[in-house]
Amino acid sequence: MKITKLNDLYFKEYISSKDLQQIVTSLAKQVKDDLPPNEVPMFVGILNGCFVFAADFLRAYKGTCEISFVKLASYEGTSSSENVKKLIGINEDLTDRTVIILEDIIDTGTTLHEIYEIFRHKNVKELKIATLFFKPDVYRKELPIEYIGKNIDDKFIVGYGLDYNGLGRNLPAIYQLTTQPKMTNIVLFGPPGAGKGTQADLLKEKYNLVHISTGDVFRFNIKNETELGMLAKSYMDAGNLVPDEVTINMLKAEVNKNTDAKGFIFDGFPRTESQAIALDTFLAEKNERINGMVALEVSEDLLVERLLERGKTSGRTDDTDESKIRNRFNEYNTKTAVLKDFYQDQGNYYGIDGVGDIKDITKRLSDVFDKL
Ligand code: AMP
Repeated sequence: MKITKLNDLYFKEYISSKDLQQIVTSLAKQVKDDLPPNEVPMFVGILNGCFVFAADFLRAYKGTCEISFVKLASYEGTSSSENVKKLIGINEDLTDRTVIILEDIIDTGTTLHEIYEIFRHKNVKELKIATLFFKPDVYRKELPIEYIGKNIDDKFIVGYGLDYNGLGRNLPAIYQLTTQPKMTNIVLFGPPGAGKGTQADLLKEKYNLVHISTGDVFRFNIKNETELGMLAKSYMDAGNLVPDEVTINMLKAEVNKNTDAKGFIFDGFPRTESQAIALDTFLAEKNERINGMVALEVSEDLLVERLLERGKTSGRTDDTDESKIRNRFNEYNTKTAVLKDFYQDQGNYYGIDGVGDIKDITKRLSDVFDKL
């Protein structure tokens, strides 16, 4: 589940693209099952919003059919009190055809009513309506709606063809209006030894954010011999990742401890795609989101040297043995590195050069933090 921003407003994922596919497929099946076997229906999509739904619906419809699109345009008549509505785009002869109107969403029903009236006078054999979404609480008309994909509350939605001020039609899922996030949440990313911990300590002061290092939390638990510590120890000692479920629950508990936080710097989390998805969902439930992933980019060879050097003083058992270090990189390369794509796909990835003076790197990071 994600939060996205369009112009000045924030939207939270409401219906996933997978659920949409199921709704559309079942709608297409219902329509087909109700028609006589040899009937060739004419689907009529009402632009603009329906274009994504209509495209998916058509491919899910298992039968011979035609499609056309119309648009309802209002134009001023000769007298200023006259506001005439006109359908543009329908050129086909519809005499004796079965016409099924495809709508993306029906709320008050006003537009639909006007379109219906126009089609009623075209000598069609049958006229039916199929809509992806229906808002039963605001519908004001008597017109029967034969096929409804999903009933929804009267909330503003975008995505999957629907827009807010022209934006958001390309979102693959349906998003619902939500409140503006209050926090700034940043994922500080990079391979082991990239300097995330050092930089997070400096940046948390500067930006008044809470720093959560999952590695530190695990080490704290190991030191205090808690149940969680005992569980994590064998994985950590071998340079393996601790299982997702354990790590995700721990992370959530850490976030929930800090109810007054202005935001978080996440260091060492997420490290797998399912951790990243869990984090998005968890934050979206709080109407919050990740503002960005800021990554320290450093080559692996330089890092192995750094870690062995750190191992001389850090007291970290996973820093002293080169084979364990190599295993941590293996875990990073096979499970964690993909997160770059995950955040890049959200338009949320910011890579910076992690080689150089600590101060210079802090400056580079701050330049990105300031934008977020
Ligand atoms: P770090 O201090 O971030 O280098 O983490 C040290 C070790 O803690 C890792 O090698 C893992 O064994 C474990 N660990 C820390 N964060 C995570 C995470 N998000 N998922 C799984 N294991 C983790």
